[in-house]
Amino acid sequence: MKGSLVLGKVGGIKIVVHWTFTLLLIWVLFSTMQQGGNTAMALFNIVLILVLFLCVVLHELGHAQMAKRFGINTRSITLLPIGGVASLEKMPEKPREELAVALAGPAVNVLIALLLMLIVPLRRYSEFTTEQWEAFFASPGLDTFLVYLLMANVLLVLFNLIPAFPMDGGRVLRALLGFTFNRAKATQIAAWLGQTVSFIFLLLGLFFNPFLVIIAIFVFFGAYAENKMVQQDYQLRGHKVQEALLTDITLLHPEDTLQKAVDTILKGTEKDFIITRDQDVVGILTNNTIIEHAARPHQPIEALMTKDFHSVHPDTDLPEAIKLMTEHRQKFMPVLQGDALIGAISSENISEFILLRANLRPQTS
Ligand SMILES: [Zn+2]
Repeated sequence: MKGSLVLGKVGGIKIVVHWTFTLLLIWVLFSTMQQGGNTAMALFNIVLILVLFLCVVLHELGHAQMAKRFGINTRSITLLPIGGVASLEKMPEKPREELAVALAGPAVNVLIALLLMLIVPLRRYSEFTTEQWEAFFASPGLDTFLVYLLMANVLLVLFNLIPAFPMDGGRVLRALLGFTFNRAKATQIAAWLGQTVSFIFLLLGLFFNPFLVIIAIFVFFGAYAENKMVQQDYQLRGHKVQEALLTDITLLHPEDTLQKAVDTILKGTEKDFIITRDQDVVGILTNNTIIEHAARPHQPIEALMTKDFHSVHPDTDLPEAIKLMTEHRQKFMPVLQGDALIGAISSENISEFILLRANLRPQTS
C-alpha cells in the first residue's frame, strides 16, 4: 500500500503501518489536551494506543496462523487508524475453514483478556464506589492501564463479531450460511447484511464517532467488492478463456502512429490493441495510454506500447484469467496457443459473457 512504513517481519509476514496511523496518534494527543490532560496523561494515552495496536497485530496474526494451517499464506498485516487488515493470499472456501480463520482473530483477544483478568483484581474493583472509580481513572497508573487494556480487548471481540461482512463477524456468518447455501448465495446474504449494518454504523458515526464513519465506508465497499468477485467467480466456474475470446481484433504494428489506434477506436468498438511484428506479439497498447497521449497522435506506437505484458492460454479457466488480470492490473491480454496469437481477452468482454450467460440460463436448464 502507498504511504506505508514496514515495521518488520513476523514469520514471513510483513507488518506495515499506514501513514494515516500517525493521524490517530495526533488525534489522541489533541483530544487529551483538549480535555485538560497534562503531558503524563498524553503519554499514558499514546502508550495505551500503541499497546492496543500490538493486540490488534496479535489478532491479525491469529487469523494468519489459522489460515496457514489450511495452506494459505498471509502477505502482510497493515495497521490503519481503524484497526488491522491481514492480506491473505486468498480466502478459504470451505465453510469450516473460513469459520476457523475468522474466529482465530477474536480468539486471540479473548485470550489476552483472560490473561489480564488473572492480573487485574476484578473482585476488589467490583466493590468500588463511583467516587473511587473517578479517582481511579483520574490518576492513571499501571492499574488503570491494565483495566483500559482489558476493556479494549473485550470491546475488540464484541465489535469484531458484529455480523458486518467483510468484518470477522460477517465472515463467521458467511461460513455458517455456507453449510446450507452455496458460496455465492451465502456471500450475497452476508454482503447484504454487511451493507445494511454499515448504514447503521454511518448514522451512529455521524453523531458519536468519526472513526465509525470510516469503518462504515470500508464495510460498505468491502462487502460490495467481495460479493461481486464471488458472484463473478461462481458464474465463470467451468468456463474457459476460449469461450469469451475476442477474435475480431485489429493488429497494429510498432511503426504505426497513434493516429491509427485512435481511428480504429472511433470506427468500431475496440479499445485496446495488440502490437505485432512478423507475427510475433511485441506489445500491447492500452486504452488509457491512447487517451493520455491522444494530443500527439503522430508518435509511433513503439514508444508508447507496454512491452512487459502478460498473456493467457485459451484453455485457462476464466476465474483464473480474472485473477491474473487483477494481480497484474492488466485488463486486456493477448491469448496465445504456443507462440500463435489466436485472439485477446478483456475484462469488459468477460463481464458481457457473464451477462449473456445469466440471461441464457432459463432456456438451457
Ligand atoms: Zn479480525
